Amino acid sequence: MNTTRREFLKLGLTLGAGAALQPLLGCEAKAALHSRREYLFGTEVELAVESASPREGEMALSEVVERFTGMNRDWHAWKPGALSRLNARLAAGEMAEVDTELASLIDGARALSARSGGLFNPALGELIALWDFQSDTQTRRAPPEAAQIAALCAHAPRMDALHIEATADGARIHSASPHVRLDFGGYAKGVALDRALDQFAGRGLGNAVVNLGGNLAVSGRRQGRPWRIGVRHPQGEGVIAALEVEGRAAVVTSGTYERYREWNGERYPHIIDPRTGYPARHIASATVLHPEGGLADAAATALVVAGPQDWPRIARAFGIREALVVDETGAVQLTPAMARRAQVQEGVPVRVV
Ligand code: AMP
Ligand code: MG
Repeated sequence: MNTTRREFLKLGLTLGAGAALQPLLGCEAKAALHSRREYLFGTEVELAVESASPREGEMALSEVVERFTGMNRDWHAWKPGALSRLNARLAAGEMAEVDTELASLIDGARALSARSGGLFNPALGELIALWDFQSDTQTRRAPPEAAQIAALCAHAPRMDALHIEATADGARIHSASPHVRLDFGGYAKGVALDRALDQFAGRGLGNAVVNLGGNLAVSGRRQGRPWRIGVRHPQGEGVIAALEVEGRAAVVTSGTYERYREWNGERYPHIIDPRTGYPARHIASATVLHPEGGLADAAATALVVAGPQDWPRIARAFGIREALVVDETGAVQLTPAMARRAQVQEGVPVRVV
């Protein structure tokens, strides 16, 4: 196994049998894959784009890295930047001005939160911070007091508390509730996937892949063949299913295994059920395939919250045809369209719902 493939396995995704993201050097005038690796959004980022011109390929990669760096700074939930300034103003009951990029992020998240019936709720920043998930490290502490959780839950901050008024260079925002604290940890990576592919497409580069720590989007094909994407096994090693994808698609996975807090042998995963204030834990991972990365990301988070019985209803509300869920017993549930695409590892119990 070469290094690239090993790296992708580590990230939870594989690209093609032996599909190294290495430039195909040679004298043929064939478009080569140009790739870049960075650490952003708290995760490993890998980009690859096909271009006949090495200069163009490298420029496109640099442009995307620059844009990601800006998003990572401006949309960070707890480090100083545009979003934390906005959060401070909302908490103080003040009006805040944001630029077009942040305004459209908030607008998009609000619409998706409504579609999820509030299960995807990026207004929950106070609760997410209370559970220690606004930090670069995983903590080993007792869970928060039930009374503290109940108190934050009682405020029930929701995205529809926000009033957004478009201006010439962004928007003016205020919140009807001082408890709205925006955290786009469940959404921003998906939006970044979309922006990256748009940027490549804007340069006429229609064969590309973007991998943000296992959340991935592709366009076109990989050197003339479909992209092959592996969905990481949430409870074990390797891959639980493989998907072949052509054209523009995002494959986004939310998992309770990704991040959690541990205390007395018990795990408290990082996706919070807004109805209870406690972590959602009955789905090990939810993978959504959809042309839009932002939608796929919000939906994958919402499916985990919805749980093993209710997730198909939420998938329908998002208009998702292709989703794959691994429940806490390791069994796979998938939609009919996903069942046609996915090659699930042998021996794994599968149910089409
Ligand atoms: P993801 O991996 O996309 O499911 O995102 C998980 C992250 O989203 C968490 O680390 C939190 O920052 C945030 N989050 C947790 N619970 C929710 C929720 N119910 N709705 C929206 N974002 C959430
Ligand atoms: Mg998400």
